[in-house]
Amino acid sequence: MSWEELCSPVSFLKQKLGTVACEQTLRAYESYWEREGKAISEIVDRAGTPWLRMFDRFGRRIDEILFPPEYWTLLRHGYQTGIVWRAFEEQSLISSYLLGYVTSFYDPGLYCPYTVSLSTAVPLEKYGTESVKARFLPELLKRDETVWQGATWMTEAKGGSDLGAAVETIARPSGDHWLLTGEKYFASNAGADLAVVAARP
Ligand SMILES: Cc1cc2nc3c(=O)[nH]c(=O)nc-3n(C[C@H](O)[C@H](O)[C@H](O)COP(=O)(O)OP(=O)(O)OC[C@H]3O[C@@H](n4cnc5c(N)ncnc54)[C@H](O)[C@@H]3O)c2cc1C
Repeated sequence: MSWEELCSPVSFLKQKLGTVACEQTLRAYESYWEREGKAISEIVDRAGTPWLRMFDRFGRRIDEILFPPEYWTLLRHGYQTGIVWRAFEEQSLISSYLLGYVTSFYDPGLYCPYTVSLSTAVPLEKYGTESVKARFLPELLKRDETVWQGATWMTEAKGGSDLGAAVETIARPSGDHWLLTGEKYFASNAGADLAVVAARP
C-alpha cells in the first residue's frame, strides 16, 4: 500500500473495499478535513477538556458545559454532511459508518457524539411512538446548524455490558410521560438535546 493511500482515509477504504458508497461526499469531507478540519481540531485539542460552569453569576445552578467555539464548527460540519441524516435518507448505515471512519482518521473523539446521536435516532425510529417520533426525529435529522444531538445513557455503576442486570434507574408513569430516578455512570455527549435512557418501569 502506498504512502498516499495510507494518508488518505478514502483511498485506504477504496483500496480495501474496491468501491465505496457516496464516494464524492467522502472525498469532499476528506478535503474539508485537510483544508480546515485538521487545524480546527488542533485548536480544540489545545483548549483541553471542556469546562463545567456550575453556577451563573446569581448563584443559580446551571451546569453548563463550555466547549471552545471551534468545536461546534467541526461538529456541525459532520452533521451537515450527513453522518446521521444519510442513514435515514439512504435506509442504510453504510454511508454513515464511512463518514465515521473518515472522522475517526482525523479526530477519533469527534466520532463519539456522532455515534450517540445516530444511536438515539435509529432506536427512536424503530421503537418510538408516532407522536414521540414526530416531535423529535425531525430535529435530529436537520441539515443545518440547528440540528439536535442525541445521547445514550445506559451504563450504571454496577456495569454496562449486561444492562438487564445493572440498571436500577426507575421510570414511573406520570400522565403522558415518565419520571426517571437514578444515577448514570458514563454519559457521553452530556450536553445533548435529547437522550435515550435505560430504566426499569
Ligand atoms: C469513553 C467511554 C464513553 C462511554 N460513553 C457511554 C455513554 O455515553 N453511555 C453509556 O451508557 N455508557 C457509556 N460508556 C460505558 C460503556 O458502555 C461501558 O463501559 C461498557 O458497556 C462496559 O461496561 P462496564 O465498563 O461497566 O464493564 P462491565 O460490564 O462491568 O464489564 C467488565 C468486564 O467484564 C466483561 N464481561 C462483562 N459481562 C460479561 C459476561 N457476561 N461474560 C464475559 N465477560 C463479561 C467485560 O467484557 C469487561 O471486560 C462509555 C465508556 C467509555 C470508555
